[in-house]
Amino acid sequence: MDTWSISAALLEWRLSTELMFLRLLFFTLFFGGTVGLELMPQPGPSSAGRPFDVIDYSARVEPNISDATVKGVVSIRLVVRAANQDSIDFDSGDLTIDAVREGQARLDFETRDRHVLVRWPRPARLNETRELAVEYHGAPRSGIQFFPDRSQVYTVFSTSQWLVCVNAPDDKATMTLTVVLPGDLTMVASGKPVARRKLPSGAVEHEWRQDRPVSSYTFGFAAGRFSELTEHSEGHRLRYLASGFSAAKLRRVFSNSADMMRFFEDRAGVPFGDRTYTQVLVVNTVGQEMSGFSVMSEAYGRAVLDDPLAASLTAHELAHQWWGNSVTCAAWTHMWLNEGFATFMAAAYMERRFGRDQYLRIVESWRSRYETIRDAGHDRSLVFPDWNRPTADDRTLVYQKGAYVLHLLRDTLGERLFWTGVRDYTRMHAGASVTTADFQHAMEHSTGRDLSAFFRTWVY
Ligand SMILES: [Zn+2]
Repeated sequence: MDTWSISAALLEWRLSTELMFLRLLFFTLFFGGTVGLELMPQPGPSSAGRPFDVIDYSARVEPNISDATVKGVVSIRLVVRAANQDSIDFDSGDLTIDAVREGQARLDFETRDRHVLVRWPRPARLNETRELAVEYHGAPRSGIQFFPDRSQVYTVFSTSQWLVCVNAPDDKATMTLTVVLPGDLTMVASGKPVARRKLPSGAVEHEWRQDRPVSSYTFGFAAGRFSELTEHSEGHRLRYLASGFSAAKLRRVFSNSADMMRFFEDRAGVPFGDRTYTQVLVVNTVGQEMSGFSVMSEAYGRAVLDDPLAASLTAHELAHQWWGNSVTCAAWTHMWLNEGFATFMAAAYMERRFGRDQYLRIVESWRSRYETIRDAGHDRSLVFPDWNRPTADDRTLVYQKGAYVLHLLRDTLGERLFWTGVRDYTRMHAGASVTTADFQHAMEHSTGRDLSAFFRTWVY
């Protein structure tokens, strides 16, 4: 959020920033290093040409698991960033919009190309706060998955397929999410649980609150007939959900979680942002990080039981809580700052857990995948001109070449400078959005080295 106008939202934001600063200070004293006011996230224009910033979403969503449908209503509170706007648009995926209201007034709207365009009844003025409510329904084929046989429903990228919102990763907002589910299901969502209300129908309303502003792609929930195991470690609550896994097996699947948490907090120089981190094994997914929780597949859980080296995906998803969810690429064209980082950090954890040789084996696999693409003439800058139709090679570049380049930067700078730079970068931009130039600047500022030749060769 980046408003300096006097409002309740601003006060709330400043209080949370101050709290974050105190936690950072404590953390810095504990782990060493320096933190100064110049390293705090600076409020400033975040929207890449967007004429408004969303401050808060408040949604009530009713998934119907047996029909694979969803209906909902979302109130979107926003600050206008450009003068005299007569309309506004949101991402709406393949949802059908039933109504848009401002207060009691019904507004005109049209849907086009996965957007809903709403006409303001009176033009929106600069810095004005407005609030719209959008009612919608649909049968999404992506963004949310339904498994009626297993009584499971969970969200995976992208959010606008089940919640009308702004997809752009640099528009961070808070959210209250209420999900209506059959009474026998357990749920996790972004943020923390606020209330659980039994309805006359027997269904249950689960209300969760995400009170740190985050990108909409990290909003989500997962529900099923899960059994649950909770462990406590150094002030964190680690919660594991799955069905068909005994407590002993769940403990083994996620046995490295506390160690990973410690490792990433140390490498980030920033404490984990929530009290609870939840990991869910669901019917089927490639793995998806959301704010405060991750989903991975049951098959993956079984793979970890057979081969401890498979823990790398658990590390990748947890690393995203810092690199991706907290320090977020300002646009998808800079996605290597999310995915290259998470891939690299997972390997750095594997090095700590299984030794240097394991790390070097992973680096070698990145190098060979990257060189295959380069030799085929498909190498590209890690900063993409657009991310509209990425190829499989483009994804490999963002994930594996991105991680390989971070490894090369580590080699170039040496252990002390590299990790100090990563900590300073992460602290400086925690809770904010970043471009590749921000990363280069932070590393140069922290290490005192001119990295322009390195970034020209490997990044641009
Ligand atoms: Zn990832």
